[in-house]
Amino acid sequence: MIDYSKERERLVEALVEEGVIRSEKVKKAMLSVPREEFVPLEHRRWAYVDHPLPIGHGQTISAPHMVALMTELLDPEPGHIVLEIGTGSGYQAAVLAEIVAKQDPSRRGHVYTIERIPELAEFAINNLKRTSYINYVTVIIGDGTKGYPEKAPYDRIMVTAAAPDIPKPLIEQLKNGGKMVIPVGNLGLQRLLIVEKNIDGRISVKEDTYCLFVPLIGEYGWKYDYY
Ligand code: SAM
Repeated sequence: MIDYSKERERLVEALVEEGVIRSEKVKKAMLSVPREEFVPLEHRRWAYVDHPLPIGHGQTISAPHMVALMTELLDPEPGHIVLEIGTGSGYQAAVLAEIVAKQDPSRRGHVYTIERIPELAEFAINNLKRTSYINYVTVIIGDGTKGYPEKAPYDRIMVTAAAPDIPKPLIEQLKNGGKMVIPVGNLGLQRLLIVEKNIDGRISVKEDTYCLFVPLIGEYGWKYDYY
């Protein structure tokens, strides 16, 4: 067993210096979740290089700076009920679970995460079991563009695949006072949007950085798999 803790600390320090990590809660979460456990064995030695890595089926685990940035923008809090669309490896779900459910045991939140590719959902479940985050994360197989009405409304929604537009069901399933982070654009380039629903249910949208994600495929996303 290789100990990656020094590499993890170095990467997190770099993300703090670059101004990507700005809060103690995100710093603590990125230091706590072992990214190497969410990366296929053959890529493990690159787990702490700040890049996306392949996880099979044409999909990727996002780069650590993108996970940190999206988590900062989402601003999850202990006790929150979170919906993630695009489970992939399960790493982002574990980072969210660390904040909403693990850092403050008196306020147990939960993360529901949806993946459309069954083999990846299984990969994520195994990774979450090995790291014990499965206690705070439920993985659902399905089309996440339709959300997961069973547990709505959500305090926070994070989409980790590129959408052509903000899926209407996700707006409906966001709590008043809630927040969603989603990459929206074309298949070559997107922009991170921060969607806020105020206490009266009014929607406001702010734009953040440009980014590049694999497509969100489904009823309220792209209509076909271009891979
Ligand atoms: N959050 C992931 C992680 O931490 O490893 C990385 C997500 S990867 C960039 C995008 C994922 O979204 C892929 O696994 C892809 O299969 C999934 N995806 C695409 N469209 C989807 C949909 N409609 N519903 C659920 N998952 C979807």
